[in-house]
Amino acid sequence: MNKIVHVPLAERAYDVHVAPGLLAQSGALIAPLLNRPTVAVITDETVGALHLESLRDGLAKSGISMTSLAVPSGEATKSWSQLQHVTEWLLEAKVERGDVVIALGGGVIGDLVGFAAAILRRGVRFVQIPTSLLAQVDSSVGGKTGINSPKGKNLIGAFHQPGLVLADTDVLATLEPRDFLAGYGEVVKYGLLGDAAFFDWLEGNAPRMAAGDMAARIHGVARSVQMKADIVARDETEQGERALLNLGHTFCHALEAATGYCDRLLHGEGVAIGCALAFELSARLGLCSQETPSRLRAHLRDMNMKVDLSDIAGELPDADGLFALMAQDKKAQKGQLHFILARDIGEAFITSDVPQDAVLAVLKDALDNR
Ligand code: NAD
Repeated sequence: MNKIVHVPLAERAYDVHVAPGLLAQSGALIAPLLNRPTVAVITDETVGALHLESLRDGLAKSGISMTSLAVPSGEATKSWSQLQHVTEWLLEAKVERGDVVIALGGGVIGDLVGFAAAILRRGVRFVQIPTSLLAQVDSSVGGKTGINSPKGKNLIGAFHQPGLVLADTDVLATLEPRDFLAGYGEVVKYGLLGDAAFFDWLEGNAPRMAAGDMAARIHGVARSVQMKADIVARDETEQGERALLNLGHTFCHALEAATGYCDRLLHGEGVAIGCALAFELSARLGLCSQETPSRLRAHLRDMNMKVDLSDIAGELPDADGLFALMAQDKKAQKGQLHFILARDIGEAFITSDVPQDAVLAVLKDALDNR
């Protein structure tokens, strides 16, 4: 059942393994990268309590020792203070330029540890062991690393590709169902942006994926990783096509800012709602049929996901307020908002040619339906 996706980036190329039981095989898989049989592992407290010992055992089978640090779980950990804590700890642990640092956790740990690895001694190699669905299908692949600033999310960071990614599909079993479904927001995004056949497959099989079917999980994760790898290989630093991966994100970032980056709305939940809004906008602009957003929304409802603004608890700004938050998105260029719209499921494209009135109308109607 092992799947390996190669990310072909010349001297920065690497493999993404997708399979159950990878923690147990971690020593054998990581050993070829090591100059000496020791690694430094950083995880969060939740994941550490559940999976750190399995990783230690897997590494020990190949004679690799590990030192570890667990930082608090949650988005607030992607901060200057935790970056300092982690990098100082790595220096304390005497991690050398030729050593390998391991990020064991969700997207928060991958982004934080990847950035720490990028700047430690001007760059050390790192291995991603993503443990959330979101991290397995998205954040662990492609080399975007970083932390949040009080001025906004992901505003400080670097491109730093991992040397290896081990997506152990067994560890998804311990995820809270809400976190699993939030990650699914990024899975469905891949079908929507470029692979209608994958979206068809998800309509039939994603409920089995959510229920724990291993073959479905492996296929869903590996297909998502393959799509991300293909796009990253063509546009590593997001000069063009890589922006397609931001489908739904312009709306999502505004909703995350409006809800304060907290449990009211998880990132992947915002992506799902954002995709529904992007398809609604596409239909209003006559780019795709009226049925297309309905089909997407029906699928998200089938998966018991958040679909509408009415699914977000508490107050939200009005349409003008949300639009202002969208305009602050870091992907805005020369003051112009870039949108990812779609001509159909699987046919997304990037445009800056979107009338403000149309966006405001979509937001206003979505708010009126709350
Ligand atoms: P997260 O890392 O906070 O994980 C979500 C929760 O799940 C946490 O409480 C974590 O402790 C827990 N968890 C993780 N794996 C678990 C497991 N196997 N069992 C039990 N609990 C587990 O968040 P996330 O959703 O994984 O990632 C979100 C972050 O990823 C955001 O900061 C976002 O900006 C970033 N991101 C980065 C990229 C990129 O390309 N670098 C892409 C998308 C998202």
